[in-house]
Amino acid sequence: MILVVGHKNPDSDSICSAIVATELLTARGVEAMPIRQGEINRETQHILDVAGAVSPELRTSVAGEQIWLVDYSDLAQAPDDVADAEILGIVDHHRLGDVMTVNPMEAWIWPVGCTNTVLFNMFKIEGHEIKPQIAKLMMSAILSDTVGFASPTCTQKDKDAVAELAQIADVQDVDTFIKELLIAKTDIDGLSAAELVEKDLKGYPFNGRDVVVGQVELATLEQVDGMIEALEADLERRCTEESLAFAAVMLTDITTAQTRLLYKGEWAEKLVKHEVDGMLMMENTLSRKKQGWPWLQNELV
Ligand code: MG
Ligand code: MG
Ligand code: MG
Repeated sequence: MILVVGHKNPDSDSICSAIVATELLTARGVEAMPIRQGEINRETQHILDVAGAVSPELRTSVAGEQIWLVDYSDLAQAPDDVADAEILGIVDHHRLGDVMTVNPMEAWIWPVGCTNTVLFNMFKIEGHEIKPQIAKLMMSAILSDTVGFASPTCTQKDKDAVAELAQIADVQDVDTFIKELLIAKTDIDGLSAAELVEKDLKGYPFNGRDVVVGQVELATLEQVDGMIEALEADLERRCTEESLAFAAVMLTDITTAQTRLLYKGEWAEKLVKHEVDGMLMMENTLSRKKQGWPWLQNELV
């Protein structure tokens, strides 16, 4: 039995990839099961409801198991005991991370907008049928990761995949499908500052220290008016409690691609020069992977 596991703090791609990769392994005649390392967010719940799919089981220990990693290859995002598991496969669309394997393994890592785009092509290459429910999960994940094709991470392969998957899933009106997905993505009603920071928080080892960068995708920055101080206090608390050199959260208006960066920690002083009127705004910044984090790496060295 192979366990298919997405990254910590799972996003929609991470959850859908685990289900879809399990489907692919099953089509190969291999026994597999999707698991998740954390809570399902609102957007992912919307996707599972629309597709009529069941959430993977919550499981954070993989010691002694054979596993596939989907949507990451960084130790920091893997289960804590991943060193005691055997990694047999990786499907991902991020930079190659630092996981190590004992034996040769299968790696599908493409520079596209979503892990599900890679999985879609694996289904095609291997000639497996894609069921409508699986197609719905795949196209939802691609539209989520590419923010409805608007992200600079989006490629022609992502667009081609959605066009074909929408037909299989019998989704006639893709624009409405995207709109409803983005409403679920940007729904933060009732979430506390700590929950917002945690929502899509990623840890990065950097220059021998630990850094975290979260991202909250919004329909308008006004959604977080009145929460800025509480968000900053939460970043400060994380730096102290987890000995982080830097903690930040990108508040991204997905309609204008404007990002306000909140940040704290020992390294925070390196960024102050970019503030205007006490605010650090990143224009034309939708993607943490392609824009936010590369820029931060340059500034934090
Ligand atoms: Mg992800
Ligand atoms: Mg992804
Ligand atoms: Mg993401």
